[in-house]
Amino acid sequence: MWVLALIILAAIGIIILIAYFRIPKCPKCGKRKCSEISRIETGKQNISIQKEEKIKHYGKDQTNIFGYVTPDDRIKPESVTVRKYTVPGVRTFYEVTYSCVCGNKFSRREHDEREI
Ligand SMILES: [Zn+2]
Repeated sequence: MWVLALIILAAIGIIILIAYFRIPKCPKCGKRKCSEISRIETGKQNISIQKEEKIKHYGKDQTNIFGYVTPDDRIKPESVTVRKYTVPGVRTFYEVTYSCVCGNKFSRREHDEREI
């Protein structure tokens, strides 16, 4: 049981670390104690986002007379193939300004990706 608790703790730790490293480093004092004060959209770009879909293939003895898989997730598929496809998306660029605890203000370019 304590193994599970340890895994959960490690996962939480990783999430906190990722969140921490998303905060930019102040170029003046080098600390990551900055807060966002403004976000200006500077541009948009059409992109394709790579996606993956797992397709499960079942054998004849795993399906009923109609060819359907018995609704039981415990049945292991005979094989699994991965279908790769792309969906249209948009990448939005921002000019983000941060304010640091030392009083320094700086900006950097950021972007996010979204499906449309
Ligand atoms: Zn600073």
